[in-house]
Amino acid sequence: MTTAQHTCPTCHQPGDKHCKDCKTAFYCSQECQKADWPFHKPACRFNQAHPASLEPQSIPCVKIHSPQTRYENITVPSTHPIFTSRALPVTVKFGYPLVIARLVENLPQGPQTDNQHATWLNIDPESGFAPSEWQGGIGSVVVANAMGHRWILTLWALL
Ligand SMILES: [Zn+2]
Ligand SMILES: [Zn+2]
Repeated sequence: MTTAQHTCPTCHQPGDKHCKDCKTAFYCSQECQKADWPFHKPACRFNQAHPASLEPQSIPCVKIHSPQTRYENITVPSTHPIFTSRALPVTVKFGYPLVIARLVENLPQGPQTDNQHATWLNIDPESGFAPSEWQGGIGSVVVANAMGHRWILTLWALL
């Protein structure tokens, strides 16, 4: 008998089968792993391109301040846990996967910790709603290109 310490991101049941490529994502079954692949793929690729054994790189990203919405360009190290998180479903639909992380966890709910832009980014295109943990108690967040590319250079390259 095994005690799973990880939660399958697809069905939210315990899961102890890790992704063979990066070993940072855990699933209960192959079916759930398959369903999660579009959202996990950016983190999987990022972790292979930025192995922990290498010197951490500074990755440009955007901080969205709360409660007064303001965007600020900052950098985070490539070792930041944001890069092991699932890509935001809406951004996966656009083919430009973004990841998001709170700067402070376990904030109380209320107008002082609302972050509407962070809530919108988390909307699930299937349900039309953001998960409950992204509807309040958010505070300031950091948003990064899940692949770690430089935003501006990537955008210019498309023109
Ligand atoms: Zn599952
Ligand atoms: Zn992986």
